[in-house]
Amino acid sequence: QDIPADRPKRVLLASPRGYCAGVDRAVIAVEKALERYGAPVYVRKQIVHNIHVVTELERLGAIFVDEVDQVPAGAHVVFSAHGVSPMVVAAASDRGLQAIDATCPLVTKVHREAVRFARDDYEILLIGHEGHEEVEGTAGEAPDHVTIVNSPEHADVVEVRDPSKVVWLSQTTLSVDETMETVRRLRERFPQLQDPPSDDICYATQNRQVAIKKVAKDADLVIVVGSANSSNSVRLVEVALEYGAKAAYRVDYADEVEQSWFDGVATVGVTSGASVPEVLVQQVLEDLALAGFREVEEVRTAEEDLLFSLPKELRHDPEGRR
Ligand code: SF4
Repeated sequence: QDIPADRPKRVLLASPRGYCAGVDRAVIAVEKALERYGAPVYVRKQIVHNIHVVTELERLGAIFVDEVDQVPAGAHVVFSAHGVSPMVVAAASDRGLQAIDATCPLVTKVHREAVRFARDDYEILLIGHEGHEEVEGTAGEAPDHVTIVNSPEHADVVEVRDPSKVVWLSQTTLSVDETMETVRRLRERFPQLQDPPSDDICYATQNRQVAIKKVAKDADLVIVVGSANSSNSVRLVEVALEYGAKAAYRVDYADEVEQSWFDGVATVGVTSGASVPEVLVQQVLEDLALAGFREVEEVRTAEEDLLFSLPKELRHDPEGRR
């Protein structure tokens, strides 16, 4: 398909994109643990859901395991940014492991909410994806009080014990719009449903969705850099399509971009998930330039300057990095 002459090829680069404060902190935590204790350092689950980050840390000496019983007794183990249930913490302690907790503080906040509402005997409707590590960790704080709600459709059928004592909480990396729809449907059925004390969907997830909405309305094609198991990256593809992008794809690496995607395309939107290093975006931009998309316009919808201090086990860094 030919592109009309009045539509020059260009890239709209969403901002904010890429690393959030929780991912930055978790990745530095593994690097610091390797520096301080030497390789290997064990990490339960992927430290963040990005294949490139995991591969790079493996190269430095990190060993990723599924469960703490795969870690040699007494070794150092890092808990991933997605958080862990108290059962995992107890299992690590039983094995005499030296645990370093890289759970994002914004996930820990949701854990605390779950504990508090369970203590007050609320039934917690936890909106999130069953099987996702973060949801397992949060639900594990109050297994007898949590019911997972997977989707707006699930909200239409989920049953509760006492409709006068229900609260909703959520995974931090969901689609804001879809979550609000789920809550609307829940409230239709349970008018006394309580809201969380503050947003559970984190600032980074929200900001990346706002930015891609603005880009998507002018984009023929949106490319999201991020891994398949990254919830917030997958949501960015969905949001881009909902907000007007004619096509949207997720890639881990630039070499997955297919030339056929550019057929009839004048404007390409680009963004990346919260676990994606900027170098991977720059590689996509380099390839786009080779394909004739040299003009890059940044579409900025928010400024981010949040920084979390390192896990307490790693503070007082002699080099003073943090
Ligand atoms: Fe924390 Fe949000 Fe980043 Fe997850 S996406 S690590 S909750 S800041």
